[in-house]
Amino acid sequence: MQTVFKTRLTSWRKQNLFLLQAELLRLCKLLQARGLSVTIQKFDPYINIDPGTLNPYEHGECFVTDDGAETDLDLGHYERFLNIKTSQANNVTTGRIYNTVIQNERKGEYLGKTVQVIPHITDEIKRNFLALANSGEYDIVITEIGGCVGDIESLPFIEALRQIRLDVGRENVLVIHLTLIPYLKKAGELKTKPTQHSVKLLLESGIQPHILVCRTEYPLSMDIRKKLALFCNVELNAVIESIDADSIYDVPLLMRKERLDDIVLWKFNMPNHEPNIEDWKHFLGKLKNPTTEVTIALVGKYVELPDAYKSIIESFVHSGAENECKVNIKWIKAETIGKKHTDELFAGVDGILVAPGFGERGIEGKIRACNYAREHKIPFFGICLGMQCAVIEFARNVLKMENAHSTEMNSETPFPVISIMESQKNISMKGGTMRLGAYDCDLKEGSVAHSIYKQDNISERHRHRYEFNSEYLERFEQAGMIASGINPKTNLVEMIEITDHPYFVACQFHPELKSTVANPHPLFVRFVKEAMKFRKNK
Ligand code: GLN
Repeated sequence: MQTVFKTRLTSWRKQNLFLLQAELLRLCKLLQARGLSVTIQKFDPYINIDPGTLNPYEHGECFVTDDGAETDLDLGHYERFLNIKTSQANNVTTGRIYNTVIQNERKGEYLGKTVQVIPHITDEIKRNFLALANSGEYDIVITEIGGCVGDIESLPFIEALRQIRLDVGRENVLVIHLTLIPYLKKAGELKTKPTQHSVKLLLESGIQPHILVCRTEYPLSMDIRKKLALFCNVELNAVIESIDADSIYDVPLLMRKERLDDIVLWKFNMPNHEPNIEDWKHFLGKLKNPTTEVTIALVGKYVELPDAYKSIIESFVHSGAENECKVNIKWIKAETIGKKHTDELFAGVDGILVAPGFGERGIEGKIRACNYAREHKIPFFGICLGMQCAVIEFARNVLKMENAHSTEMNSETPFPVISIMESQKNISMKGGTMRLGAYDCDLKEGSVAHSIYKQDNISERHRHRYEFNSEYLERFEQAGMIASGINPKTNLVEMIEITDHPYFVACQFHPELKSTVANPHPLFVRFVKEAMKFRKNK
């Protein structure tokens, strides 16, 4: 218990439906920039055990951690901003909480007691609240509770928060309430009433927020701040204004005048000094002052929903800054390739990325995109399904294996060049059963992959069921598509490249899940470099 008292727990409250991450990330970054060890966890009150089974239209990308947890895409932001690794403990849902409690009940662990929301569910929530705090690794743990005040499914989380303040000592817990200050155009006025009401609702649950972070389109006047402080029972300097930033990466440097980080340290009675954000400034300098630009075609099936490819987009921000190059993304809906004239679709692009994905829709378009990149010698980057499509295209058009396919799309294909892994064959449950998380990969000496990583062995994150079918490997290699990365334990092909092409590299894993501001992913950095070269030589 000793560590709990040294560790601070901050609870973060969302009050509206917008993505309100900026303040949380800024707070975390600025605390980290003072040498504190900080992490963030997210509690989602929905009933799914994890977002792994959710359609990207529902929830955007599913972010996968090293330990194989399928998590909310917010965890990607946490990793990218803070350059930390998150795990299963950083993302918990109502489904997971209930699942554990019900399993415990079946094991007879509650000794005949009636199992109830209070104390059994709330105890399990508290155990998860404290899992990271108790690890002793962190000075501050920030816990984001998703949803809105007043949601029925959030109530046990709010109750657990109330209790935890008593368990670990009030001085160790700070509650930040994130709230929306709407602007009424006709009246030309900012309105504080919704905030007053949501704070009242929190008070009914026994929680007095310590800090209000006020999402607003216009600056908060002193009068509005005073009104909020008075009606919501917080100090005037604990009313924090939060206005939109152009880019989430600007956020740590913006609005330092609001001093959320200083107030948190002051309330925790922790020593304070100027944060060291030189590295961040350096990154922003490169991001904002590109010396050149490239256009990358991103071929996928959810192109109208960029959140489905969040980590890929962000990896281009990191690798673009690293190369001092602005990366423009041209979204290409896979189904349209082949219907429209392909030359027109790919006109002006300097690189083609075929994205990860599942299922039949758009698959032929993705395969055509691989074909176009291969034949036109355009830099190519295939990720997961993107690599599988490159393999299928090569089989059909170079090895002349007619109707070669992945058994995911065509179980009757005469040439199953991509097939289900042996270990996956008898699995019928969908949730959490893919090949998930970090696996090792040996890189072939002399390959492009090896020259990019400059390492013999790497570790990357996976999320898939199907694989390159190694029975065909020899024929591929003889024709010029080589396996440049192999799993040392299972011999699975994890990376391929085409030798007779300026740059054609693809991977079965998801490199985008490991790119951060501090460590842009080498595969993205090199791909952007190759696109720059291609553009220059056009
Ligand atoms: N659908 C493919 C598989 O399951 C690829 C998955 C992906 O792109 N993440 O193997």
